[in-house]
Amino acid sequence: MQLRYLTSLDLDSFIKAASEVPYHRIETDLFPNIQVWIRRDDLLDPIISGNKAYKLLYNLIEATEQGTDTLITCGGAWSNHIHATAAAGTRFGFRTIGIIRGERPPELSATLQDAERFGMHLRFVTREQYRQRSQPEFLKLLGIDEGNALYIPEGGANLAGARGAQLLGKVIEATAPIRFDQLWLACGTGLTLAGLASSVTSLPVYGVEVLKAGDSIRRDAQHWLEALKSPSPACGGEVGEGGTGTPTSNLSRFPADFFLINQCHCGGYAKYPPYLQEFQRTFEHQTGTLLDPVYTAKLMYGLHQEAISGRIPPGSKILAVHSGGLQGRRGFEPTASNKK
Ligand SMILES: *Cc1c(COP(=O)(O)O)cnc(C)c1O
Repeated sequence: MQLRYLTSLDLDSFIKAASEVPYHRIETDLFPNIQVWIRRDDLLDPIISGNKAYKLLYNLIEATEQGTDTLITCGGAWSNHIHATAAAGTRFGFRTIGIIRGERPPELSATLQDAERFGMHLRFVTREQYRQRSQPEFLKLLGIDEGNALYIPEGGANLAGARGAQLLGKVIEATAPIRFDQLWLACGTGLTLAGLASSVTSLPVYGVEVLKAGDSIRRDAQHWLEALKSPSPACGGEVGEGGTGTPTSNLSRFPADFFLINQCHCGGYAKYPPYLQEFQRTFEHQTGTLLDPVYTAKLMYGLHQEAISGRIPPGSKILAVHSGGLQGRRGFEPTASNKK
């Protein structure tokens, strides 16, 4: 398969790269009576992967505009966001500092080994300190001089991140190869869901919750949808052939209907019971498309459950977003020395 790279940090190049992400129709008996396609955002770039690339985009542009050469962010030992931020730092010339939850282990997770190799400075903090991460004085408490560095919250969850997810929705509207009936994705915080629901106006969005979140994903998604209503100058960029797309303010349905599937978290965040392992093996074997255990395996498992229960109208054409995260597979290999 052709390797794609994000080569320069500007909106038009990013939109072009995103517009070239392939859509694959998958052939498997796991989804009876419906047609399933996958948009392969895991292929956007080999190391700045999936929805984390979209969430970083406007943050990186903002950093450049501010003349900032340093990004500070935080996450856990297997964080896709830490990995993508470190990779973007080395690609586009930012210093990166990763604040990592927990003590530095004797052997780093594969994710953090990569992050260090990409040049990220890792700063390990206690779980207690980490809990302060949304406080304004978080960096000061850790004795980190913010200077004019850009602080990006865990997971890329800020308004700039939501605008990136919104851009993904615009790209989908502009590039979908057929008319779909439903759009599906995996939800951790619900930010990507909100971004998509704010810009995908022609079909309902379904989010599979990958953790036991109570009502918080719905609430957070609604929060980001509200925040996205305010226009932002950073949100320019037209999507469409040759940059002649329709004006981005012309949303016909805002937001799109969105629905959350909360019964397919398989026991909680990063829980990976044998039945999910078995499902993932079958899916990968039958389709040739790899998934990650934390997000996209649960997405496809949730879609499978809905399909076999008959809750999706027969003949429906479903588009599932492959949001990346494949680097995290290494955390689940039998030989891995680190567990979640
Ligand atoms: C972070 C992540 C998600 C969840 O995104 P949210 O915006 O937090 O809901 C989904 N898939 C993958 C692969 C991720 O890394």
